[in-house]
Amino acid sequence: MNIVIAGGGMVGMTLAHLLRRRGVEPVVIERMKAGDYVPRGYMLGYQGFDPLQEVGVLDEVRRGGWDIAPREDGSTVAVAVEVGILLHALARDLPVEYEHSLTDLIRAEDGRIVGVRIEGAAGSRELEADIVVACDGVASRVREMAGLEARIEPLADATLTWMSSTPGEVSFAMAYLSDGGHIGTLGWPQGSAGWRTIEKVGEDAALAPGVEAMKEMWTRLLPESAKGVSGVTSLEQVRYGEPRLMSAPVWWKPGVVLIGDSAHFFGPETGVSSGLGLGDAQALAEAIAQNPGDPDAACQSYETWRAPIIRPYEAMDPGRQRMQTGGTTPSPADRWPPAS
Ligand SMILES: Cc1cc2nc3c(=O)[nH]c(=O)nc-3n(C[C@H](O)[C@H](O)[C@H](O)COP(=O)(O)OP(=O)(O)OC[C@H]3O[C@@H](n4cnc5c(N)ncnc54)[C@H](O)[C@@H]3O)c2cc1C
Repeated sequence: MNIVIAGGGMVGMTLAHLLRRRGVEPVVIERMKAGDYVPRGYMLGYQGFDPLQEVGVLDEVRRGGWDIAPREDGSTVAVAVEVGILLHALARDLPVEYEHSLTDLIRAEDGRIVGVRIEGAAGSRELEADIVVACDGVASRVREMAGLEARIEPLADATLTWMSSTPGEVSFAMAYLSDGGHIGTLGWPQGSAGWRTIEKVGEDAALAPGVEAMKEMWTRLLPESAKGVSGVTSLEQVRYGEPRLMSAPVWWKPGVVLIGDSAHFFGPETGVSSGLGLGDAQALAEAIAQNPGDPDAACQSYETWRAPIIRPYEAMDPGRQRMQTGGTTPSPADRWPPAS
């Protein structure tokens, strides 16, 4: 089968490796330059371990990061790691058409998607495809061009996050706030990050109290974050955001299938988005291998296997139904920005 993978992020690259191991040589199209990425801390959940083990990069990623809640038998629930360590490991020895964007889908007379148009510095060209796999992220153009629906749901809360180049004291800590929101920190060998839910007050109001007030609040509410947040010296390291959930009721139509963030995006409290996306890649690679020469059967089989894994996570996302620990309004000590 001709497989075109739209997007060479962690899910697209993982799928490419897993297909190659099954004797299928896909074309990976990535709009960014080789090696480019936005540095950040990242928690790889256990849901992504099997696919990365099969690719052969899991041990390297674990060595490069810090285990989260390791068990006595040497296994771990998750790994906190600088995301570039995973991306560079996946990019090694993998042919990717960097600096090319997928700009259009090509359809046959019966409406089936049978190829793509890509554009790079040398101009544009067409590639035939039995399956175009959308690995182009939450704002997927492939999903949109294919006419597959995306349901976007705003979360009730906004988030305040920080990142620092001071390694944290712990790989992970999280606590619930008086209104059922949460505050957490992630630490890895080169840095640390923190996040918490706040009311949707807008960026100006969220940042107005300043860096020192924010550090005091974080240290008081989550003492495990004290070392990491001490490395925050400027509001440039702090972000206000209003995250949204995304789900796609249908994942495929003849000639195109959605996986990873193009198919689902979860709330920041879950930490499952990428692990589930990596699992999608493994399931799709196996579905393609088990249905040689029949792309629609492969996609159908993929959806049949994968829906019982993904749909419950979507239904139970704590972004939708928050755990109520006391009330719906934060206590004065938890409130951010603090009441003046
Ligand atoms: C700030 C932040 C923190 C996060 N933290 C975590 C975490 O701790 N744990 C976790 O599990 N998940 C986390 N996530 C989510 C995680 O990053 C994603 O689930 C994961 O990156 C999904 O991978 P993907 O390959 O599906 O999509 P992406 O990583 O978005 O990759 C898509 C790729 O497609 C390329 N592309 C897009 N359009 C085109 C086009 N038209 N042509 C060619 N290429 C294209 C892009 O350049 C990109 O490389 C976080 C996300 C953010 C934004």
